[in-house]
Amino acid sequence: MNNKAIITSALPYANGEIHLGHVASTYLPADVTTRFLKQKGVEAYYICASDDYGTPILIQAEREKKNPEEYVKFWNKRDLEDFTALGIEFDLFYRTSSPENIEFVQDVFKKLLENGHIYEKEIIQFYCKFDKKFLPDRYVIGTCPYCKAEDQYSDLCEKCGRVPAEIENPRCAICKNPPTKEKTKHYFFKLANFINDLTGWLEENQHLQKDVKKYVQNWIRDGLVDWDITRDISWGVPIPLPEAKGKVFYGWFDNHLAYISSSIKFLNDKGIDGKKFWNSADIYHFIGKDIVYHHYLFLPAMRLGIKKEYKLPDYIPTRGHLMLQAKKISKSRNWYIGLKEFLDFYPADYLRFYLTSITPHSQDDLNFDWDEFAAKINSELIGNVGNFVNRALGFVQKMGGTVPGGDKFDSADQQAMDRIKQLSADVGSLLEQNHLDRALKKILEFSAHFNQYFQQKEPWKGGAGTNNCIYVSANAVRSIAIALLPFIPDSAEKIWNQLGMKEKLSEQSWDSISEFDLKPNHKLGAVSPLFKKVEESDIKKHKAKLGAES
Ligand SMILES: [Zn+2]
Ligand SMILES: [Zn+2]
Repeated sequence: MNNKAIITSALPYANGEIHLGHVASTYLPADVTTRFLKQKGVEAYYICASDDYGTPILIQAEREKKNPEEYVKFWNKRDLEDFTALGIEFDLFYRTSSPENIEFVQDVFKKLLENGHIYEKEIIQFYCKFDKKFLPDRYVIGTCPYCKAEDQYSDLCEKCGRVPAEIENPRCAICKNPPTKEKTKHYFFKLANFINDLTGWLEENQHLQKDVKKYVQNWIRDGLVDWDITRDISWGVPIPLPEAKGKVFYGWFDNHLAYISSSIKFLNDKGIDGKKFWNSADIYHFIGKDIVYHHYLFLPAMRLGIKKEYKLPDYIPTRGHLMLQAKKISKSRNWYIGLKEFLDFYPADYLRFYLTSITPHSQDDLNFDWDEFAAKINSELIGNVGNFVNRALGFVQKMGGTVPGGDKFDSADQQAMDRIKQLSADVGSLLEQNHLDRALKKILEFSAHFNQYFQQKEPWKGGAGTNNCIYVSANAVRSIAIALLPFIPDSAEKIWNQLGMKEKLSEQSWDSISEFDLKPNHKLGAVSPLFKKVEESDIKKHKAKLGAES
């Protein structure tokens, strides 16, 4: 394991509130991973930023009679508040419109130009004579030339995940009329220059998911299309050439560069050499599968094009889309749950626990189901973990509040103690492989074992093995608190306080999970139930709200 890491997640587009669909595949897995790496003693930083540019933002700002700067500032602040409420702990949440990023993007462009990877071409661009504007990207809808899916954006087919070279049967997305075509000069990035290098990188990098790799390799085999990086709009990073006045970069040229520019700013501000750190750290980019093309092709190609001045990613954990009650999330059909709204009803840890447990390290789609949510919280989080912690600590409290010593351990005690000794390695190795769901399941199995152990030893009868059972169980609670910290940090802190620990939970090393640090005569804090049950009547109300007219 590298002792340095930079973790990023797909940048939230500063154009609307964060909903559950955003959280499951990227922000939460990245946060869990960063917290774990920090516990492992890795110097790890979680860096993110709002994605501030592009046509949809410009148009929406105009509609709300705000200037785009004001508009994205609002969403940057709101997004950070919502993420923070979920316990997502960024080391820096910055923005793609920062002066540092603008300068960095322009610098990368100049280097790509010098290195022969950019060329200029006159192109014919869709233009709407009714709306009197060029129609880039989302402003043209039509049929995907590859999979023939209808009503797809001209810059991304949501059905097959590819970027169409030219959309078929185009229409203006604003007024639905067929657009006309006008001439304009654009800059192109020669993606085809990198076919060999990209192929080599994909083969070499053993951390990338095999299934994702496979279809990226198929795309390369089919041939890569050069990439138009120019937009004729007013909101974006200006192209730094006198002849390109009034033109800006396409959002996908500048946004992922903010992974680097924001990291460098953060590190330099801390007095660390940012570039040196980046190039000696493990680089993680957490994404959803809709942006595989951008992260496995554009992003590495651009870093290759500036001669690997900044190293390529080591890990690109890629996860599927979240469905809601087995249907595609849609804001327009009110088939979505805002993060803020969810957190008004339930603690952040309930969502973190549930989403982590249903989100594998694969591109399979996930499903948020209200009934399953209630069942998992009530039976697994509360019925298993909550029950054991409360039983074990409640018993210590009844005995006077101090942990007894143990001796002459029997085979059940030994088995339980072996579980504690094994836990850090068992859970840790799964976390290292990014199997967060399976790691969480291991902790649940551990807790279930201790429920059984407690039941079997019957300490309430006050028999010979009572002290041993309580000593081992109290130590198991301590192990659970440390192991749960990356997943459900608020609850882990609560357990930690109930244990009456003097040291900070965040300063406990991951490996200390397997130590017996709760010594005889240790005094507990105040003990109380950790969780509140999810009520069926509330679940009914949540379900009725979905899809209803607002
Ligand atoms: Zn398609
Ligand atoms: Zn139009």
